[in-house]
Amino acid sequence: MKNRARLIVVLGIIGSSVLMQWTPATASPVYVFPVTGCEVKYAHSHHDYPATDILAKAGCTFVAPTSGVVDEVNRVDTWSGKSNLGADRGGLYVSIIGDDGVRYYGSHLRSIPKSIQPGTIVVAGRVLGAIGATGSARGTAPHVHFGISWPTPIDAGAWWVRRGEVFPWKYLDAWKVGKDLSPRKEVSAKKLKSGEIPPVSK
Ligand SMILES: [Zn+2]
Repeated sequence: MKNRARLIVVLGIIGSSVLMQWTPATASPVYVFPVTGCEVKYAHSHHDYPATDILAKAGCTFVAPTSGVVDEVNRVDTWSGKSNLGADRGGLYVSIIGDDGVRYYGSHLRSIPKSIQPGTIVVAGRVLGAIGATGSARGTAPHVHFGISWPTPIDAGAWWVRRGEVFPWKYLDAWKVGKDLSPRKEVSAKKLKSGEIPPVSK
C-alpha cells in the first residue's frame, strides 16, 4: 500500500508538471491604448490630415502604444502664433519606431521623462510624457495629438509625415478594448516611394 501511495504521488507530480507545460502562457498585448490612467475623449475625425487628438486632463500619461525604440524627442516649445511654422506646431513631442516598423508620434506634451532619449528601447506602456497643451495647442484643451506614419530620416523636412499619415481611430478603438490590431499593413501600403514629392507643403 505504501508503494502504491508513493506511485500515486509521483504520477500526480508528473501529471501536473505536464499540464503546466501544456498550459499556454498568457500572451501580453502587443498594443496598448496610448493614454493610461485617465478618462479620454477622441473624435473619429481630424482637421485636414490623418491623426487623432486624444483629449485628457493635463498631466495624464502618454505611453508607448507598442514596443520599439525612441526616434525623435523635442523638449523645447518653439512655436509662435505669428510664424505658426508646421515643424513647430507639435511643441514638446516624442516619436517611437515600433518593432512593427511603424512610427507613433505624440505631441503637445507638457513634459517628457529624462530617461526618454533617441535610441531608448521601450516596451508597450512605457511612459513617454505628460499630456499638455504646448505648440499650436497653446490655449486649447489639453490633448495629445497622436499620429501614425512611417519612419523618415530625422530632419525638419519630414515633420509633415511624422504628424500622421493614416487615420488612427480604428486602431485606438481596438487597443482601448484590448484587441491587438496592427497598422503595419496600412502604413506600408501608404508609404511614399523615396523621392516622391510631399503632398503637404506647409
Ligand atoms: Zn491634432
